[in-house]
Amino acid sequence: MAGGKIQELVDVAIVGGGAAGLVTAIFAARRRPEWTVTILDGARHLGAKILVAGGGRCNVTNRVVSAADFHGGSPHVIKRILAAFPAEQTAAFFREIGVELHEEEHGKLFPDTNRARSVLDALLSEADRCGVHIRTDHRVLSIERGEAGFRIETPAATLTARHVVLATGGRSLPKTGSDGLGYELARALGHTLIPTTPALVPLLLAGEFHAPLSGISQDVELTVSATGTKPVRVRGALLWTHFGISGPAVLDVSRHWHRARLEQREVSVTVNFLPGDDFAAAEQRLLAAVWAQPRAVLRGLLARWLPVRVADAMATALGITRMLPMAHLSKEIRRKLIHALIAWPLPVIDSRGYSHAEATAGGVPMNEIDPTTMASRVCPGLFLAGEILDVDGRIGGFNFQWAWSSGWVAAAGLAQRDDREQAE
Ligand SMILES: Cc1cc2nc3c(=O)[nH]c(=O)nc-3n(C[C@H](O)[C@H](O)[C@H](O)COP(=O)(O)OP(=O)(O)OC[C@H]3O[C@@H](n4cnc5c(N)ncnc54)[C@H](O)[C@@H]3O)c2cc1C
Repeated sequence: MAGGKIQELVDVAIVGGGAAGLVTAIFAARRRPEWTVTILDGARHLGAKILVAGGGRCNVTNRVVSAADFHGGSPHVIKRILAAFPAEQTAAFFREIGVELHEEEHGKLFPDTNRARSVLDALLSEADRCGVHIRTDHRVLSIERGEAGFRIETPAATLTARHVVLATGGRSLPKTGSDGLGYELARALGHTLIPTTPALVPLLLAGEFHAPLSGISQDVELTVSATGTKPVRVRGALLWTHFGISGPAVLDVSRHWHRARLEQREVSVTVNFLPGDDFAAAEQRLLAAVWAQPRAVLRGLLARWLPVRVADAMATALGITRMLPMAHLSKEIRRKLIHALIAWPLPVIDSRGYSHAEATAGGVPMNEIDPTTMASRVCPGLFLAGEILDVDGRIGGFNFQWAWSSGWVAAAGLAQRDDREQAE
């Protein structure tokens, strides 16, 4: 102790003990049992995000993971990192530490216990078994690189470390401790930053249309169209809420809406209630339904494809009486209806922000990282893993897979650097 502060010399200091920090620590300690590997985390308890993940069940990974499931850094680089520690190896690792996974819809893998706590507990006990030191309540305020290594300051300790891993996450759910300070630490060590926006976040809508629909979930296709870019289409469930829209399809498109706004593009979001249909297919479908039931009224017809409340809200918004007999369907109303069914505009005004986002888009650019080691290309001895990097995955276990894979590569990179230093 000096000046009341703990002074410590460590081989590896891992800043942030979330998913990425924990696996980096475990794999580094497994490779080099003689090292002192210390996790520093500002939170009182580790793993808050693991515990809330997947509705408290933790969607650990996906059966099939590819670079196409991610945005941000170059797909080639992401593919390389995923290939070093793929989903099968992740499942084998979790099995080894006592967590059996099972598959659910869309390839999502969950623990058999259906409890995120069992995932966190297994990681913590493996870290403990490997001799990883964990210091909670140690928010890192600054890191400086000097002759003797990195000098790391927390309110309670000063550490000197040969190597540092930044695994501080992004800005999503800041109350868990991932509030963006990690980006400033990276910047102070020479990195640049790609501006961040929330990702996997519910969207807020203007107007009244959505309010009476709150609680309804339906399968749709969403399209985000932004000037100067290719439209992005996502199929899946949309959940109407009192504030706007949520559900997997909405969470997946939210990052595209935010990125378009960040780039100051004109952006619109439309919903196709007949996923996969274009105008011609929808027209055929509508005509076939009218011929099959010439005495039906509009409400009955729309209810074939839409929840009744959505059908009613649509008819009201279009100014068409819902009891209109289909025999009286004019060409003009038919066109209006088809457009409404395949490209209903959603007046998105914003998202619920980082406090409701599951991920962060943007961060430390991947071209400043060596993908074979996760070593910083601008600060020797520094490594980065997880959400702090400019990589964000779609919904389905992909963000955790990024944490596991990049953490594994960082641990291998640390050992490689050590080998090189020993040889010099
Ligand atoms: C509600 C919710 C549900 C989710 N569900 C899933 C899911 O089911 N499947 C999936 O794949 N992904 C899911 N995600 C995303 C996933 O949780 C993240 O992608 C993942 O946790 C990122 O891991 P990380 O280790 O990079 O960062 P984090 O988990 O954010 O961990 C970063 C750690 O660093 C610490 N820290 C930050 N700054 C400092 C500092 N200056 N000093 C010391 N410590 C610091 C924080 O306290 C935190 O413990 C979900 C996210 C949320 C918010």
